[in-house]
Amino acid sequence: MTLVTRFAPSPTGALHLGHAFSAIQAHDRARDAGGRFLLRIEDIDGTRSREEHVQGIVDDLGWLGLTWDGAAVRQSDRLALYEDALARLRARNLLYPCFCTRADIAREIAQSVSAPHHGPDGTCYPGTCRRLSGEERAARIAAGMPHAWRLTMDAAVAVAGPLRWTDAIAGPQEADPAAFGDIVLARKDAPASYHLAVTIDDAAQGVTEVVRGADLLRATDIHRLLQALLALPTPDYRHHRLLAGPDGKRLAKRDRAPTLAALRDAGEDGRALANLLRRGALPTGFADAKA
Ligand code: GLU
Repeated sequence: MTLVTRFAPSPTGALHLGHAFSAIQAHDRARDAGGRFLLRIEDIDGTRSREEHVQGIVDDLGWLGLTWDGAAVRQSDRLALYEDALARLRARNLLYPCFCTRADIAREIAQSVSAPHHGPDGTCYPGTCRRLSGEERAARIAAGMPHAWRLTMDAAVAVAGPLRWTDAIAGPQEADPAAFGDIVLARKDAPASYHLAVTIDDAAQGVTEVVRGADLLRATDIHRLLQALLALPTPDYRHHRLLAGPDGKRLAKRDRAPTLAALRDAGEDGRALANLLRRGALPTGFADAKA
């Protein structure tokens, strides 16, 4: 079987060294095996995605000496696929509309007598809209109230049964998607969530090994559940270690981690940097992020 990997950045900011580390590993896994390496632009979030970052991604990968097979795929061109999956889940009564704002959710959690559930992504949704009657839902939708679509997690888990998957580095995993609560699969402001789009696209593009950072290890439990619900194949997974910057903090776009564009503009040699990372070394000041 041909090994197919991908790099799937969101064009919501400039790439940093952590992205380079990830892209090089996915690229080399495929190239070393005579397989295929794909580039997918995860631009479903129309409010945060920027065209200049798409160009920046292409320029950064070229500077690192990485090549990909075929044209880059854009999630914004694939909305019909996500809508189709949502319709299938809705027809099986596994989704419900959620009209809550962030403020509604915070208020509900603050007023609740029971302790909030904390999942891998923070506090779980308290289930407010799950308790609405069918008539109330229909009336609100008819009135044009903005809404997200959430997965009825316990029903989904019951339908899917126990699920396992294997990480090439962390080993065998028992999926625990219920820990996330009723997750959003379609947002008020975006036609699909990251979890839904990534699961569908990895299957649709024939990705056989997902190489990405260890920060997404637990999210794979959700992807595994969605694969079971939508009858999609489960690829192999390889969640690699994360890098920390000179401040000791894990590299993240929001912390203004030093960008590849800045190194490129400063005249650094991208291929030399890629080879340094391949040898397992890091530029001065960078380190492995603490688990
Ligand atoms: N678009 C996601 C990100 O940039 C990709 C995650 C993945 O590789 O599945 O974090």
